[in-house]
Amino acid sequence: MFDRRTFLGSTAIGMGSLTSLDQLSEWFSAFAKIRRPLVIATWNNKKAVETAWDVLKSGGRALDAVEAGARIPESDPEDTSVGYGGFPDRDGFVTLDACIMDELGNAGSVVFLEKIMHPISVARRVMEKTPHVILAGAGAHQFAIEQGFKEENLLTEKAQKALDAWRIKSEYKPKINVERHDTIGILGLDQNGDLSGACTTSGLAFKMRGRVGDSPIIGAGLYVDNEVGAATATGLGEAVIKKVGSFSIVEMMRQGMHPEKACKAAAKRLLTIKSKDEFQVGYIAVNKKGELGAWALRPGFEAAVITQDGFQLIKANSIF
Ligand code: ASP
Repeated sequence: MFDRRTFLGSTAIGMGSLTSLDQLSEWFSAFAKIRRPLVIATWNNKKAVETAWDVLKSGGRALDAVEAGARIPESDPEDTSVGYGGFPDRDGFVTLDACIMDELGNAGSVVFLEKIMHPISVARRVMEKTPHVILAGAGAHQFAIEQGFKEENLLTEKAQKALDAWRIKSEYKPKINVERHDTIGILGLDQNGDLSGACTTSGLAFKMRGRVGDSPIIGAGLYVDNEVGAATATGLGEAVIKKVGSFSIVEMMRQGMHPEKACKAAAKRLLTIKSKDEFQVGYIAVNKKGELGAWALRPGFEAAVITQDGFQLIKANSIF
């Protein structure tokens, strides 16, 4: 799995990636033509977008693609912000949040789910098998077991060690752009022109027990409107929730804004939050035409994109 510390410590971003803002806008305008299928995800989730792409390239549904993609970091023990291997809360429990939306406007979500490796698939079952949108905690767990998901220990040795080290000082200050913000939000546009999205996370490392972030909150961490476009978020969930980030981006696109401009405008709205100097938020978006956007509050955010032209790692523009 990609190590973002290594990325931040280097100046080049690797093969097939873009390095200058000019190149970036050139690349975005290349998407003025309708281009599909495509997948875009937060951070360098290369394997996830490739997995989603495998579904789309053979004519598959965007919903299946984004679920398949989101499952990759969920089962990766090296990814310390999602699923198995995710850093626990301060009491030592790994608690997971996820949501999913399809092209019909359906939505499903699980919050504060424990001991189930693939919350995104449980969220999809909530969407498809229940009359509800959100299941939480013990109820979400019970539902998952009833649906045939296995109970598993998700706390790895590495995550336990990280908690032990954190407990020495017990200082609660999420660090910007490090592994506490590796949440995957993934958006897909399929060959039919239909959009879906998924978002899954273990949330902030060493959070208070019971804390839920933006990732499973429809409109905050993810929003899909098949008539307009889709958006998803990563970073400090509290900030994204306060601004209803993803919904606001889709609404701006509805008014005709390009996804890049809508992401920028949503990032700008974060500036009214008092603690704006202490956190990162990154947004990505896609519209029905396959035009893309990525913008963040501060440098360091990137997005993984895959189209017929192959994989691209985009270095997002930022407000600061
Ligand atoms: N947005 C996630 C949360 O606040 C964290 C992240 O993006 O890593 O739970």
